[in-house]
Amino acid sequence: MALGAGGNENNVRYANIATDGSSIIMTQEQCKHDVRYAGVLNLLHGFGILGAVDVWECAKCGQIWCDEKRLGVQDLPPHVGFPPNEPDSEWAILVCRDGEKLEWHLLQVKKGAKLEHNCEVFNTTCNIEMVDGKAVCDLHKEGHTFFSVKDNINRSIKV
Ligand SMILES: [Zn+2]
Ligand SMILES: [Zn+2]
Ligand SMILES: [Zn+2]
Repeated sequence: MALGAGGNENNVRYANIATDGSSIIMTQEQCKHDVRYAGVLNLLHGFGILGAVDVWECAKCGQIWCDEKRLGVQDLPPHVGFPPNEPDSEWAILVCRDGEKLEWHLLQVKKGAKLEHNCEVFNTTCNIEMVDGKAVCDLHKEGHTFFSVKDNINRSIKV
């Protein structure tokens, strides 16, 4: 299916999936996004701030877009547009931890899909899936945690 056929590619999203007997009909809904700054999510570690994520939200369709801010890293250039989000995906923060080693990533996690993750904490590549909000890794039983961005706007997460 060609995304953006007959419309502005940036404003196309899958609105609903209707089943009609044996066939599946997918409809697209156009949203002329009305994007506003929704707030910030802070990542805390110990007594300090590890980083932050700025969040923008469309007041009409509820889609969100994020920018990460890392300590000691220069601000990114001004935001250029709001690219289409992956269908069936959600913004999440992945925290990896092994003892004192810690890293975090801002990601779009697709439902029902395994995410190939090159992990600097465990020094290996593993596959992580989000199951009921939890991180399930094919190699590590512990050490990976997902946090939903949408559920934590204007909150602080302690890692
Ligand atoms: Zn919208
Ligand atoms: Zn990792
Ligand atoms: Zn892993």
